[in-house]
Amino acid sequence: MQVDARVLGVLLQLQQLDIEIHQLQKQLEELPQRKTILDTRAKKKQIEQKSEQISAMHATAEAQCTVLSDEDSALAAKQKRIQDEIDSVKGDYRSVESRTKELNGVAKRRAVLENEISAALDELSKIEAVQAQVAQALESLNAQEAKATEGFIAAGGKIKQTLAQKQALRNALVEELPEEVHKVYEKTAQRTGGVAVARIQESMCGACRRPIEQGRLVDLKRQGNLVTCPHCQRMLILA
Ligand SMILES: [Zn+2]
Repeated sequence: MQVDARVLGVLLQLQQLDIEIHQLQKQLEELPQRKTILDTRAKKKQIEQKSEQISAMHATAEAQCTVLSDEDSALAAKQKRIQDEIDSVKGDYRSVESRTKELNGVAKRRAVLENEISAALDELSKIEAVQAQVAQALESLNAQEAKATEGFIAAGGKIKQTLAQKQALRNALVEELPEEVHKVYEKTAQRTGGVAVARIQESMCGACRRPIEQGRLVDLKRQGNLVTCPHCQRMLILA
C-alpha cells in the first residue's frame, strides 16, 4: 500500500518503542528479588509442613504425659487411702499384711511411672526445642521475603513507571496510524514476536536479510511504499 512518509516514520518509532517496552517487561520479570521471593515462599511452605508434623508429635507426647501423670495421681490417692486403712485396722495382722502388699504394689508401679514420666517429659522438651528452631527459621525467612518484597517494589516501581510512560507514548503513536496499517502491524508483531517492520537495504529485506530479485522488487514498488516481504512476511518499507 502507499502511505504518507510520516506514517512510515511513526511505524518505525512504534517498532523501536515496542522493543524498549519488551526489554522493560523482561527486566521486570527477571528482577532478582522475584526469584528470592519465590524461593523463600517455597522454603516457607516446606518448613510449614514440617511444623505441622512437629505439632502433631507434640500433641501426642503431651497426651502421653497427661495419661502417665493422671495414673500417678490416681495411684497417689490410692496409696493414701490404703495407708489410712492400715492406720484404722491397727492390730488386725492379716488385714495389715494384705494392705501392705497392696501398698508395695502401688509403690512399685509409681516408681516405674516416675521413669516413664521423666522420659516422656524429655521427649516433650526435645520436640519443643525443634519447634523453637522451626519458628526461628520461619521468622528469618519472613524477614528475607519482606526485604526482597521491599526491593522488588522499589525496583519494579521504577520500571513500571517507565513502562507506563512508554505505553502512553505508544498509544499516542498508534493514534497517528491509519487503522489498516495498525492492524497489520499488531498482527505481524505478534507473529514475529518482535520486529514487524523492516526497511529494504540494497535489495534485501532488512529483517530476514534475504535478497529480493529485481523483477519482484519492481512489482512490489508498484504496490506502494509499504509492502510485505515475500520471504518473512514482515512489513517492508520500500521508500
Ligand atoms: Zn523479510
